[in-house]
Amino acid sequence: MTFVVAIDGPAAAGKGTLSKAVAAHFGFAHLDTGLLYRAVAAKVLAGADPVQAARTLDAVDLEDGTLRTPRVAQTASEVAVIPDVRAALVTFQRQFAMRADGAVLDGRDIGTVICPQADVKLFVTASPECRAQRRFKELTDKGMDITYDTVLADVKERDERDRTRAAAPLVPADDAVLIDTSDLTIDAAVAAAIAVIDRAR
Ligand code: C5P
Repeated sequence: MTFVVAIDGPAAAGKGTLSKAVAAHFGFAHLDTGLLYRAVAAKVLAGADPVQAARTLDAVDLEDGTLRTPRVAQTASEVAVIPDVRAALVTFQRQFAMRADGAVLDGRDIGTVICPQADVKLFVTASPECRAQRRFKELTDKGMDITYDTVLADVKERDERDRTRAAAPLVPADDAVLIDTSDLTIDAAVAAAIAVIDRAR
């Protein structure tokens, strides 16, 4: 039987790092669902229609090396408010969640909309300043010329749009376990997540 772990939370809360570590620990497959919206956004920035781009998305589109830029992230949160874009991406995500070996999906609406029956739901969060600091380091480590204030403004704008949209807004599922990573090391956050999953298994 498959085992599904849904990990949701705002931008740069550490979901990606946590999800990868948890998937590796349990031998589960991992899908970063933000990449789907980012891949649609990249096509839109290249001139495509958002709904058409979502309907024709291919797994290979997720490997586009430019998906991690702030511009693509902002456009991703803009296309993510369109109900038909979200609808076009549901099947791919649900099929991924049916992996026999178990699956970890991270995003914004996994525990609420994509996999409401997930075996474990985690909501990973941290203060906006803390998340912006981490994202700032990540981007400047890659050589990007950007200020902390710009990153903080981007994170806050994206959070606001994700939380207030009508279609699948960012909210913790009623049965989600909250993990605030503001004052946690990566190892401590991973250990907390593993403990929750161990209890559920
Ligand atoms: O997780 P990431 O920051 O890569 O996601 C980019 C954007 O894609 C988010 O700001 C959000 O608007 C959208 N998204 C979403 N639902 C998901 C994953 C991402 O709406 N499950």
